[in-house]
Amino acid sequence: MMSEENDTIFGKILRGEIPSDKVYEDDDVLAFEDANPAAPVHVLVIPKKHIVNAFDATEEDAELLGKLILAAKKVAKEKGLEDDGFRLVVNNGAGVGQTVFHLHVHVLGGRSFAWPPG
Ligand code: AMP
Repeated sequence: MMSEENDTIFGKILRGEIPSDKVYEDDDVLAFEDANPAAPVHVLVIPKKHIVNAFDATEEDAELLGKLILAAKKVAKEKGLEDDGFRLVVNNGAGVGQTVFHLHVHVLGGRSFAWPPG
């Protein structure tokens, strides 16, 4: 079964096994609305390749990792965040809050954010 390769909820979304509210897609990347938004704009950008998190990424993934940020920029512009800006967050490991073990970039905007993060 294919699913043993990516038995995460985002793997299921990529395979169309569960629905998502798609915001952007190309050959390498998918962006969809976060199901439990933490801000007025909260979109997740993921690589179609299963990378667990930054620890799992290699030099081979360099271009793909860049594409995630470029897709995040597209999403942010489409969501009208050019004036106010947006925050990108990647949680790497359960200890810092990663709950889905398929690399994802949170695109957050539409409110103010504390710095440093809590
Ligand atoms: P993290 O805690 O960084 O691993 O983020 C996982 C994110 O995935 C959370 O913000 C969840 O709200 C979101 N999430 C979990 N399941 C789904 C789903 N089926 N569709 C969209 N977002 C989801």
